[in-house]
Amino acid sequence: MSLRIAVAQISSESNHFVTGLAGPDFFRTTGYLLEGSEVLGLSRSDTEVGGFLSILQSEEQVEVVPLVAARANSGKPLSAECYRSLKRRLLEGLCRNLPVQGVLVSCHGSMGVQDLDDPEGDLVGALRKIVGPRVPLALTLDLHGNLTQAMVQSSDILVGYHTYPHRDAFQTGQCAARLLLQAATGRSRPAMALARLPLILTSFNASTEGDGPFSRLRRQADRMEQTRREVLSASVFNVGAYIDVPEMGCSSLVVTEGDEALAGELARRLALQHWGERDAYRVETLSVADAVERGRRIQGGPILLLDTADTTGGGAAGDSIALVRSLVELRVEEPCLAMVVDPDTVADCWHREPGSRFPVEVGHRLDPQWGKPLEVEAVLRRKSEGCFRYRGGILGGTEVSMGRSLVLQSGSLQLLVMSRPTYEWADEQYRSMGLEPRQAKFVCVKNMMNFRVGYGGIMKAFFVVAVPGPTPADMGMLPFRHIRRPVYPLDAMPETVEPEMTLRPYPGA
Ligand SMILES: [Zn+2]
Repeated sequence: MSLRIAVAQISSESNHFVTGLAGPDFFRTTGYLLEGSEVLGLSRSDTEVGGFLSILQSEEQVEVVPLVAARANSGKPLSAECYRSLKRRLLEGLCRNLPVQGVLVSCHGSMGVQDLDDPEGDLVGALRKIVGPRVPLALTLDLHGNLTQAMVQSSDILVGYHTYPHRDAFQTGQCAARLLLQAATGRSRPAMALARLPLILTSFNASTEGDGPFSRLRRQADRMEQTRREVLSASVFNVGAYIDVPEMGCSSLVVTEGDEALAGELARRLALQHWGERDAYRVETLSVADAVERGRRIQGGPILLLDTADTTGGGAAGDSIALVRSLVELRVEEPCLAMVVDPDTVADCWHREPGSRFPVEVGHRLDPQWGKPLEVEAVLRRKSEGCFRYRGGILGGTEVSMGRSLVLQSGSLQLLVMSRPTYEWADEQYRSMGLEPRQAKFVCVKNMMNFRVGYGGIMKAFFVVAVPGPTPADMGMLPFRHIRRPVYPLDAMPETVEPEMTLRPYPGA
């Protein structure tokens, strides 16, 4: 008898501190929106869905039931209309294809929706209602996903990325698909436990590479997976997410073979380690003047100036010009590269010829709450349609577009002006426009993690600069309104806390 397994993805990371809402075209224009058999086109991708399909399609008795795959850039919360339209496509697709013997879904975990605190919980709850309590449902999540009680209560298996920088979307999909098939064929009875903390942490010092606090935590989870036969999966989630909802915090989630009490004990142990090291996640920030001064004391370049507060991978618009303004005011004469998203300036300048000089206003068009445009005299150096291919990361190998783009030169500064934000990874955007980071003394990077890989071989040093924006390295800079208090680091907290536990026995419902 064949096993029919439904496959779906609705994945975006949102930022509640940026202006506006993402409309119905958001997924199609910034990522992809595939339906039915189109979803199978992801089988050659590095995505979670690629991982699902690689396992399912290698099993003779499995029939893949592709529903919807929607992935978007990090960005604004979704409008109610955008979310409902995706949800409707997903649920209608499932209803048309019943019965299924299992459901695999890829989500981020920190998606925001206009009038909903927990969209992923809402989504899996709706899927559960349709398939009933006994059809296994597995959910994959980003390591920055915010886990909720509803997500745990409505699913059987939750698996998060193990790596940051993210390199294992595909493997995460594979792991969830293997566990789901075991449950769907009665070879496994997964039980789960979630331990959540009143803790929100910036991602900057939360790499799983090297020997930082999050790397140590991940290694502890790895040991549980490797040394305890009953442990099917152990995930740790570092919620430095920029969503503002009541039920939010870093968490640990363990899936065991039929033993929710053991899952709870292990998840709690991971959570307490996370809490115990909370101070190790703090980040040193410098004024631009101090960062430039310290960079000048280092021979050669590039020195990275990190505008972490405008990280497009965290949902920011990428339109901040604050760092460039400081470089101009400081009259920095060394070669500098910087980038900014500003569709208005691109449109205004598009008719001009390379080599022409003109005054221009640039920056803070999309999310004006964080600053004002900068006026400079610039020379147009290059124009392009803005397509490039990622060489690594969760979008490795895919071709994307930053829209029509320009290079403007002002003094020693070359400024890449793009029409659309793209998920950052390394220096692909600069290189696609003929800009070479190795030849610059200072390179401005709107990123808080991937630069370590992308520029790892060439950077001489990096400094986090203190400029305003919706993805700062210090969570205390953000105007949270809805998150449950007290929470670290916004409030004074006791030395020890007890994580909030949610247990899900098999089959749970
Ligand atoms: Zn992430």
